[in-house]
Amino acid sequence: MNPSGNVAIVTGGGSGLGEATARALAAKGAKIAIADVGMERAEKVAADLGGIAVKCDVTSAGDGENAIETLKSRLGDPRILVNCAGIAIAVKTVGKDGPHPLDLYRKVIEINLIGSFNMIRLFATQAQELDPLDGGERGVIVNTASVAAFDGQIGQAAYSSSKGGIVGMTLPIARDLSRAGIRVCTIAPGIFKTPMMAGLPEDAQASLGQQVPFPPRLGEPSEYASLACHIVENQMLNGETIRLDGAIRMAP
Ligand code: NAD
Repeated sequence: MNPSGNVAIVTGGGSGLGEATARALAAKGAKIAIADVGMERAEKVAADLGGIAVKCDVTSAGDGENAIETLKSRLGDPRILVNCAGIAIAVKTVGKDGPHPLDLYRKVIEINLIGSFNMIRLFATQAQELDPLDGGERGVIVNTASVAAFDGQIGQAAYSSSKGGIVGMTLPIARDLSRAGIRVCTIAPGIFKTPMMAGLPEDAQASLGQQVPFPPRLGEPSEYASLACHIVENQMLNGETIRLDGAIRMAP
């Protein structure tokens, strides 16, 4: 799909990978709606791009419905959904630290996995009613997993489960939506230089970068954004999860 003139909703678009993707899609002529819980940054990004910001906790059915209704009336019918809202957690091992708190596990699954699913189901329901574009395409969805879906590290059971769930739902949802002409792909990023990583000291970030076979550095959000744009533009990409990680395989 050509982003130009089409409406894109970017969850978590107030920061990091979502912000970079919103900016890249806007540069290609898309109309941007940022859906985020953090409104200060979301409004700044939306204002820069001539788009809108909608307060939306992706875990809430009501917030999701409201976000889609609001942007439909203010920008037009969304045809592009980029799911970037997500959280990371501090290391919490199963066993050694005592029983892993269930509420922490539930929280990560709720935001990263159920939040993505919530936005997909609401987006798809309205997109399937739109007039088809070239080749019968009605919409495209880009999700964000992580290499943690494949190379789970110590203390990261909850995060890896949430990202593994996104990988797992990508193909079945792509198949569900194929008759409606809506594509679904997932990007599994390695380690990217975003505010999510800012908690790590500079030397820890540099040493993580050195573990990447090539290029030996952290990814730039613009590199995630260019793949997200490519997925939007390349009609043959569907049902796929693409690692974007410089070939890193995380040590335990
Ligand atoms: P970030 O912290 O910079 O941005 C995340 C955004 O999501 C923030 O704007 C935050 O307000 C928003 N958000 C959090 N919870 C939300 C909720 N319930 N509803 C709506 N918005 C919510 O992080 P980032 O690094 O840009 O990460 C974006 C996505 O990429 C996340 O899903 C993250 O797990 C994934 N990811 C990041 C990296 C990395 O190295 N940065 C690597 C792999 C995967």
